[in-house]
Amino acid sequence: MNRVLVPWQMDSAVPPLGAQVLQLDGQTMGTTWQVRWVGQGSGQHSQQAQAVRTAVQGVLDLVVEQMSTWLPGSDLDRFNRASAGSRQVLPEAMADVLDAALWLAQVSGGAFNPAAGALVNAWGFGPSPRYTDPGFAPPDSEAVQAALARQDWRSLRWDRASCQALQPGGVWLDLSAIAKGHAVDLVSRRLAAMGIGHSLVEVGGELRGQGLRPDGQPWWVDLETPPPQSAQPPLPTTRLALHGLCVATSGDYRRVYTHDGQRRPHTLDPRHGQPVSHGLASVSVVHTECLWADAWSTALTVLGLQDGLALASAHGVAALFVQREADGRLTETLSPAMEALAE
Ligand code: ADP
Ligand code: MG
Repeated sequence: MNRVLVPWQMDSAVPPLGAQVLQLDGQTMGTTWQVRWVGQGSGQHSQQAQAVRTAVQGVLDLVVEQMSTWLPGSDLDRFNRASAGSRQVLPEAMADVLDAALWLAQVSGGAFNPAAGALVNAWGFGPSPRYTDPGFAPPDSEAVQAALARQDWRSLRWDRASCQALQPGGVWLDLSAIAKGHAVDLVSRRLAAMGIGHSLVEVGGELRGQGLRPDGQPWWVDLETPPPQSAQPPLPTTRLALHGLCVATSGDYRRVYTHDGQRRPHTLDPRHGQPVSHGLASVSVVHTECLWADAWSTALTVLGLQDGLALASAHGVAALFVQREADGRLTETLSPAMEALAE
């Protein structure tokens, strides 16, 4: 059985006759990007394609220069290394991301925490040490406690008007759970500003679709599903019309290691300092902004099925939870807003 999700609203602007789908891809943020758009001309070397490549890569490079924990000298890196008690001016373009991240930290009771960078590093998911390094060992409880003492997002005293944040000392911001989605939004808006209103933008599996394809169909995408275990039946395919919508999926089956028989996925629970382990195989969130889809999918992954479903329901967030049951079966749960898309 398959499920089809369609948006609450459709707008009627259709692409011009004779237009076709063009496609480009590239690298960013340790993963890939892909852009499809409805345009004129053909091939990757047309004038429009070259302009699109320059614009897309420019937008993505700027997000990295501002918000990456991986790029030495990024604005985020400068903040993280600043001396205790100093106020750092951050680029205005980071304001929406920080506002969103801090709001979600608040409403999720710290399950989502943009200041959890020290913890991320301790578990080997930052640039160094890497969990893939030979001889890497997960942190002991002392190291975990030390990281937890450095993640108080409330101490940042973020002031949107002056774009300043206080480095209270040792706080390591990590916006990796939200910046990718934000970058997708920015690319999509940049294309629109270039007159490209019909596009499908993807960075590392997070997607945003605007407008329609030349045949008048929306951009259809299938939600990523976790690989089923051995003899288990596969989950139904969920097909989504990305028309003015975005989708992000967090999964426990990518960027994960096993230590002493325990799965260690790269999503951590900052409330106790351990990698999440309550059996959610994936969470997909559909939202009109990819920044929110990305951030919510990480937040709900940390909260787990029960608390995540309650929070998603309270905030009208469209989420699809895939739970790994004790016998290996995968079961799906939809939040009310996701049910509404499926009707
Ligand atoms: P996924 O695609 O699985 O959702 P993301 O790339 O969105 O993953 O986010 C995972 C990254 O976010 C981690 O690699 C880490 O840098 C950071 N992170 C991990 N746990 C948290 C958390 N609880 N709150 C905020 N950021 C986190
Ligand atoms: Mg995320």
